[in-house]
Amino acid sequence: MSRFRLYPTADQVAVLESHCGHARYVWNLALEQQSWWHPRRGPAPGYAEQNRQLTDARREFGWLAAGSVIVQQQALRDFATALAGFFRGSHRKPSFRKRGRGEGFRNVAVKPGDFRRENRRWSRVRVPKVGWVRFRRTRPVPAATSFRVTRDRAGRWHVAFAVVPDPVAVSGAGGVVGVDRGVVVSAALSTGELLRCPGLRREEAARLFRLQRRLARAKRGSHRRGRLKARIARLRARESDRRKDWVEKTSTDLARRFEVIRVEDLKIRQMTRSARGTVDAPGTNVRAKAGLNRGILAGGWGLLVRRLEQKAPGRVERIPAAYTSRRCSSCGHVAAESRESQSRFVCVACGHESNADINAARNIAAGRAVTPQGGRALAVPVNREPQRTAPPSLAGV
Ligand SMILES: [Zn+2]
Repeated sequence: MSRFRLYPTADQVAVLESHCGHARYVWNLALEQQSWWHPRRGPAPGYAEQNRQLTDARREFGWLAAGSVIVQQQALRDFATALAGFFRGSHRKPSFRKRGRGEGFRNVAVKPGDFRRENRRWSRVRVPKVGWVRFRRTRPVPAATSFRVTRDRAGRWHVAFAVVPDPVAVSGAGGVVGVDRGVVVSAALSTGELLRCPGLRREEAARLFRLQRRLARAKRGSHRRGRLKARIARLRARESDRRKDWVEKTSTDLARRFEVIRVEDLKIRQMTRSARGTVDAPGTNVRAKAGLNRGILAGGWGLLVRRLEQKAPGRVERIPAAYTSRRCSSCGHVAAESRESQSRFVCVACGHESNADINAARNIAAGRAVTPQGGRALAVPVNREPQRTAPPSLAGV
């Protein structure tokens, strides 16, 4: 993704905000329909049907009709994509969008004529109903057919051009690598490397904690509260920037170094692992860390796998990884007792000692799906076909 900072004028901000509001409204309606929908009511309407309902709703409500139809249709499409990701098991269930949190909208059918170069540093992009909005061209603008405009919690606007990254060629010894999503560390490789996604530094995390405590005491609607919120948002935005940067670098690095990249299959992992630890080794002292890392693990892991699949197409395999942390990567013995602690694995059969996440990554690299009895299944290739989903009806808009 190629993201640039947008600098809209005050008038443009008002229209951008209304686009965000419309996208949020349509998304939330689609979600509401979904939560009411039941298999016994017959097949749920697809995107085409929802789209027709949106047309009706626009005819009825002037404020909706005043907005951009592209923005509203894309919110429906984004929702259908999110739902498909949920049913596939690669993404969390879509949730209601709240005002001021992760706001944004998408524009499609973008043509080269929708860009204008102003000078060495500045360009403009045409946004429906908004007009030409300035952005700082910090690097070359990729040829994109769609873009997403977002406002982060610090109030900064960005435009992100949807570019599927080019595949990265293998340029090393190659081979197979297993990547395990750790609870304490961001990712463990079967090579023995522990990768840490940079979050907030210790002093920044402490500052965030203090700000949050002060916010809890600040009076609602006060200036002080607004200032605190903005400072918290800036820290959070910094954390998220670092995470995205890390994902880009790490995915390129892995795609370049290894021929086959095996990752845990999230769908199965989600059932056995919670933020507090694993079923195998329920977390005790990981709680505080888990809280801090939750965002990184949830957002970062999904993005990392997506980027890997784009940069190493056909070379990523998902391994059902439910019991990989109980299995000894050296002798194959499966025992819950071998997981001595959150970070330590000591095999009760052969005495093999290892970092627990690296032991799991080695099992993943071997392509072993371990059952509670210690049996194994074969690696499943990445399934890129979207499964049939049942998008909700928008009736009642
Ligand atoms: Zn062993």
